[in-house]
Amino acid sequence: MIPDLPANIEQIKGFLAEDEAAALYRHARAARDLGPVLEVGSYCGKSTIYLGLACREGGTVFALDHHRGSEEHQAGEMFHDPEVFDRGEGLVDTFGEFRRNIRAAGLDDTVVPLVSSSEVVARHWRISLGMVFIDGGHSLDAALLDYRCWSAHLLQGGILAIHDLFPDPFEGGQAPWAIYRLALASGLFEAVERVNTLGILRRL
Ligand code: MG
Repeated sequence: MIPDLPANIEQIKGFLAEDEAAALYRHARAARDLGPVLEVGSYCGKSTIYLGLACREGGTVFALDHHRGSEEHQAGEMFHDPEVFDRGEGLVDTFGEFRRNIRAAGLDDTVVPLVSSSEVVARHWRISLGMVFIDGGHSLDAALLDYRCWSAHLLQGGILAIHDLFPDPFEGGQAPWAIYRLALASGLFEAVERVNTLGILRRL
């Protein structure tokens, strides 16, 4: 049971299973005293709400997303949603929807939106982090960039969570699984648990 979970959480656009959401909440709760949480790939804020609720008492969630959608959200692609497409600009724009959802959840004072790309935000980033949740682009280039930009800022004992792990290539794209294995092979992380398609690692 998560206190103050919005009644409409099921209606919020996003791709996150209930058991994965509960695991994110649990790990963010434990990590928030170590340092802030950074999420890569917030989309309309569903996972951000779980992280935010976990951090509301004195924690902060940096929610990084360019809000232009990943590859699969673009017009004509499988997960395109015309409700978050700006026809005037001819671009996906999930930021309005994100802001409304965060405000409605009472998390404006917990969640700091970073509306840009990983590469640009990471350029001058100096804040050490208690938890990093990678749920951004699913191309190998995008996943590797997110991993390289953010895993280095994790404090010792911090949590690295990676979404959309599909060890079987017939079930899903391989980029998140590739960075999960890369993290383990680096010797810098230990596996904590896997919940559905969510992988949890700890920085040694
Ligand atoms: Mg995902």
